[in-house]
Amino acid sequence: MTDKVSRFIAAQQPATPCLVLDVDRVAGNYARLKSALPLARIYYAVKANPGAPILDRLTVLGSHFDAASLPEVRMCLDAGAEPTRISYGNTIKKERDIAAAFEAGVRMFAFDSESELRKIARAAPGAQVYCRILVVNEGAEWPLSRKFGCEAAMAVKLMALAGELGLDAYGISFHVGSQQTATGPYKAAIAQVATVFTDLAAAGVKLRMVNLGGGYPVRYKAEVPEIEAFGDAIMGAMAEHFGNSLPEMVIEPGRFLVADAGTIVSEVVLVSRKGDEDPVRWVYLDIGRFGGLAETEGEAIRYGFRTPHDGTREGPVTIAGPTCDSVDTIYEKSNYRLPVALAEGDRVEILATGAYTTTYASQKFNGFAPLEEHYI
Ligand SMILES: *Cc1c(COP(=O)(O)O)cnc(C)c1O
Repeated sequence: MTDKVSRFIAAQQPATPCLVLDVDRVAGNYARLKSALPLARIYYAVKANPGAPILDRLTVLGSHFDAASLPEVRMCLDAGAEPTRISYGNTIKKERDIAAAFEAGVRMFAFDSESELRKIARAAPGAQVYCRILVVNEGAEWPLSRKFGCEAAMAVKLMALAGELGLDAYGISFHVGSQQTATGPYKAAIAQVATVFTDLAAAGVKLRMVNLGGGYPVRYKAEVPEIEAFGDAIMGAMAEHFGNSLPEMVIEPGRFLVADAGTIVSEVVLVSRKGDEDPVRWVYLDIGRFGGLAETEGEAIRYGFRTPHDGTREGPVTIAGPTCDSVDTIYEKSNYRLPVALAEGDRVEILATGAYTTTYASQKFNGFAPLEEHYI
C-alpha cells in the first residue's frame, strides 16, 4: 500500500467497503513498464479498472488503450485520448458497435474468426486488423482458456483473407493468461507468432505488428518475478525469432498498471465458529465475491490482508463475504491465518486490489451498493 493511500485511510476513515487508489502509483507502474520494454507501445486494458482519473492520467502520459466494448471506447475518448490511440481488442463485437467505433475514428480491431473479420471489413473498411491466436496459458493464475484465439494455421488463412477484403493486415496477438507468473509462455507464444509471420511472408503478406497482450503479474501473497524479467525474456525471444527486422510491438497490461495502486478497506461484520471445538474461525467481512472480489473465485487470486492487530498471535480462518449465497465464501482452502484478537467492527485492508474489483461488484445483490471508489 502506498503512503498516500495509508494517510488517506487514516485521515478520512472512509465508509466501508471502498477502494482507495493512488493514481501516482499507476503513473509509476506505467514508467516502470515502459523502461522494462522500451520498444513496446503500451495499450492499457481498460477493463482492469476504467476509473476516469486513471484514464485521464494515462492519456496525459501518452498511453494507448485496449477497449473491449463501445462504452470503453467512449470512456477513453472522454479522457481525451485520440481515437487513433484506441484498439478495439475484443474478438466478440456487434457489427453496429464496430461501425460506431469506426465512425468515432477507431482504426484498429481484433478478430479470431472469419465471421468477425467479415463484420470488420463491412463496418470498418480499410481498418488495421490483427488476429488473435490460441496460446498456452499454463502458469497463469487467472487463465483465459480456449475462449479467445484461433489456431495459427487459421490465422494465416484469415490474415491473407483480410487483405483480399480490403483491410490492412496489420499483425498477430495473443494473451498468455492473466497474473502469468512464468516468462516461458511469452517466449513460446512469440515463437508461434514468428511462424505465422513467416508463412504469410511466403504468401506475399507482410505483417508489421506483434501484440503481446497482457498477463504481467503483480505481487499478492506470493512472490512473482519482477517486470524486468518479463521484459528481458520477451526481448530475447523477439530478437531470436525476428532478428534485425523487429516488427512493431504492442503490450496490453491491465493488472500490472493498477492492482498495487489500490487498497480495499472493509469492516469485520462477524467472527464465529461452527462448533465449540472447531479451531477455525469464520471471519465475515462487509465485502465478498459479489462486492468486487470476483477473482477469489476458485481462490485463484489470493490477496494479502492487513488488520489493526498485525504482529500478534494468529489462528486459522475462513474468510467470507456478507451476502446470503454460499458462493460468497472468499478463502476456505488456502490456509489463511489472521490475528486471534480480530473482532467485529475492526477495519481490515485488502491489499493490491486496484484491478478487477470495482467493475466486478454487483449492483444490488442483497441490497448492497456497488463498491465505493476514491481516486487520490
Ligand atoms: C484482459 C485483457 C488484457 C489485460 O490482461 P492483464 O492480465 O490484466 O494484464 C489484455 N488484453 C486483452 C485482450 C485482455 O482481454
